[in-house]
Amino acid sequence: MKSTHCTDVESFMAGLRKRNPGESEFHDAVHEVAADVLPFIAETPAYQKGCLLERLTEPDRIISFRVSWVDDAGNVRANRAWRVQFCNAIGPYKGGMRFHPSVTQSVLKFLGFEQIFKNSLTGLPMGGAKGGSNFNPKGKSDDEVMRFCQSLMSELNRYIGPDTDVPAGDIGVGAREIGFLFGQYRRLSNTFSGAITGKGVDFGGSVGRKEATGYGAVYFMREMLRTAGDEIDGKSAVVSGSGNVALYCIEKLIALGGKPLTASDSGGYIHDPDGIDTEKLEWLKDLKEVRRGRISEYAEEFGCEFHPGRPWAVKADLAFPCATQNELVEDDARTLIGNGLIALAEGANMPCELGAQHLLREALLYAPGKASNAGGVAVSGLEQSQNSLRINWTLEEVDDRLQRIMGEIHEKCSTYGARDGGRIDYVKGANIGGFVKVANALLQCGVT
Ligand code: NDP
Repeated sequence: MKSTHCTDVESFMAGLRKRNPGESEFHDAVHEVAADVLPFIAETPAYQKGCLLERLTEPDRIISFRVSWVDDAGNVRANRAWRVQFCNAIGPYKGGMRFHPSVTQSVLKFLGFEQIFKNSLTGLPMGGAKGGSNFNPKGKSDDEVMRFCQSLMSELNRYIGPDTDVPAGDIGVGAREIGFLFGQYRRLSNTFSGAITGKGVDFGGSVGRKEATGYGAVYFMREMLRTAGDEIDGKSAVVSGSGNVALYCIEKLIALGGKPLTASDSGGYIHDPDGIDTEKLEWLKDLKEVRRGRISEYAEEFGCEFHPGRPWAVKADLAFPCATQNELVEDDARTLIGNGLIALAEGANMPCELGAQHLLREALLYAPGKASNAGGVAVSGLEQSQNSLRINWTLEEVDDRLQRIMGEIHEKCSTYGARDGGRIDYVKGANIGGFVKVANALLQCGVT
């Protein structure tokens, strides 16, 4: 097999930008991977055939479709939705659905590309995909959200299935949306299968799934600190977001003796110098998961500060960006480093802009999302296994597996990201560790 692959990162990126104009989020995600993987390919003869990175940066397919629905006032509304099926070399496509006005094809391509490496790192048989819509569930009634989800699934159902593509939740797609999506899929397919994960535990969901991404990020942080001879107990933490990932990151931090100082939403952040404790967290969960309120209400309830913007100026030992992409820029990274930050684990996908990432990667223990937030998709994979086997594991069994998987991801990062002097480059480790399994599969399955 001859290869025509490009080994220079800048010329590789120039070609990619030309083929994918205007897709800056996708460009950034590929750049981060190419910067580690192309040099690795250049020094590893086994991977110098098959044009591997060129193939991996071209999605298998992108499905784009209209979603028409009727609002409570009787108006017909139209949104756009996508499913990016990126690569199924190691298993059925797998990745969340995002509902947010900022969703574009570029955002979903970046997320789907990241998902290939993340899913590979978990060691479970899952390919990479992502989907979503520019629909904004905020301010919509439950009935409106249901009609939107049913309309979206009326089209999406043709392209998914337990052995084909298994969507899950993401920003704006929580328990309510997953229930509506699954209900419509079940009706249309006349099957009860594990074609969607993140389901309620009453209808095939796994215990521990909703906690998995946040818990997993904290478990990964624990591994990084342990390797450096340190621990979470007694450490303060700055956390962004107050959604699914952030809430359970805060919960596990408290359980391991950490002191979370902040939480945020798109309106701003709260700074609670006494720390968010279990009682305050239960109130916050009710605010965000049940009443769908704003984070500023926490400051009113507990008499602490609320500020617009993001929480990165708050001095802490650990940081967990858990809201959205590009929420932490170079200046924020400088502030965090200047404040003596020890370690940062990404709960969100690419929350640190590339410039910020470069600074953090050199200065401290820095875990990229594809490693540290892989706990969510890992437990989604465990949900698929339970559905196929028609059994339910206990919370303890799921959590044990989650801890083991996060430990194994840390191990892979350490192997492929080892630096002189015993330091670990977790970005390089995750990129190469995720790449190797997918590359091996591509090479063994012929030119597809
Ligand atoms: P949620 O919708 O539950 O929560 C998102 C949180 O981020 C909310 O607090 C939201 O505030 C805030 N947020 C969203 N967009 C912005 C923005 N543009 N500016 C400021 N704040 C914003 O999503 P998740 O917790 O599920 O996901 C958070 C991140 O984690 C995403 O990057 C997602 O891709 C990633 N992730 C999620 C996984 C999961 O299992 N859920 C798995 C792996 C990664 P507001 O309510 O005001 O919009």
